[in-house]
Amino acid sequence: MARCVFCENELSAATKPEHILLNALGGRKTTRNAICSDCNNRFGGTVDDILAQQAAVVRNMLRLKSGTGNAPPMLRNLQAGQERININSDGQPVRLGQPFDIVRDASGKVLAVKGVETTSAEDMRRLIPHLAAMLNLSEEKVREIIAASPATFISKRPDEIKHELRFGGEAMRSVTKSCLVLIAAALGSELVRTPVFAEARDFVLNGAEKFLQSRVGFDSRALPIEQAVRAKFDPFFNLIYVQSDANGRVIGHFTLLNAVAWQIVLAEAGGPPNLKLVLVSNPEDNAVWSDDASQISDVDMAWLETPQRSNAASLQRIEAIVAHHVKVEGAKAIDHIINQVRRRYAKDDEAIPPEQHDAFEHELADRLARHALALPYERELSPEEVAALAQPKSTQS
Ligand SMILES: [Zn+2]
Repeated sequence: MARCVFCENELSAATKPEHILLNALGGRKTTRNAICSDCNNRFGGTVDDILAQQAAVVRNMLRLKSGTGNAPPMLRNLQAGQERININSDGQPVRLGQPFDIVRDASGKVLAVKGVETTSAEDMRRLIPHLAAMLNLSEEKVREIIAASPATFISKRPDEIKHELRFGGEAMRSVTKSCLVLIAAALGSELVRTPVFAEARDFVLNGAEKFLQSRVGFDSRALPIEQAVRAKFDPFFNLIYVQSDANGRVIGHFTLLNAVAWQIVLAEAGGPPNLKLVLVSNPEDNAVWSDDASQISDVDMAWLETPQRSNAASLQRIEAIVAHHVKVEGAKAIDHIINQVRRRYAKDDEAIPPEQHDAFEHELADRLARHALALPYERELSPEEVAALAQPKSTQS
């Protein structure tokens, strides 16, 4: 019976399927012919997780789901100007840690709660039971206090957010593993257990500075076949590409979201000759992927042998992602503002009454101008609006 690439455990129909490209990166293709369940779990909690974390910012920016359809990762505790924020899976920024004041009279009776911030009416409703518990009051009483309090609607773009992107290091063990698993899935795990892959296996299992320095290369270049791959899959494709020459020198090239790439010398010589294995996927539509090597043109071995690191080229690739993000999210933010303003003047399926047109257009222009200039928009809520916020359930849709 076939054994695990990384230990002596036997593989069977009960073996946990291993994602060749990580599920977190949108991988769909799995195999039971490479890694035992124990090793699968161990890598999942260590090196795979490190690689997934390194891709988290880009996944959040591009709203990329996992292979099994889980939401993109939330980004926590980021610095945005003077503030700390989270960015939710849906891209919504949420300000963190704004304390609120509880105003009491001499006897300790709660008179008001000041400085409560919520991002939506829904949030406000969720907060009420917590406030009630904290203040040791009934929810009913808390609603009364809120209904009687002044409230302001503030719409504001977060200040500039600085993300630190770091790729490489221990994550290269996961990248190398993906290449070895791709080989095992195609040609069997016993081949990958042979001595020609011993150093690569050892690197995956234990990490090794020497292997990292001499056999793994950060590659800033776009693939020579990039245009064809992006046309068929996605501008931000993932690609695991394994190729060998006539001497069985086996090279892996791993492109992550078409933003960064690495070259790994999996075997220096003596591996399977003239091999070409491919796993390519569209992270924006996980159903679109292929392991059919004929779908992808050959990459010149000499090109694969000479990875190049260039800060300018790396930056350009990341900038393409940021530009895409700004374009998509900018349009969404404007839609959101238009809907928000529109709902103040008419119900969803109704036209804005003619006598309200001027007020609507004026408010919309003001909101959009402030959005464009990244200035906050503030408006005092009417007593009716505040009362509606304190209601147990929305009276509108
Ligand atoms: Zn194992």
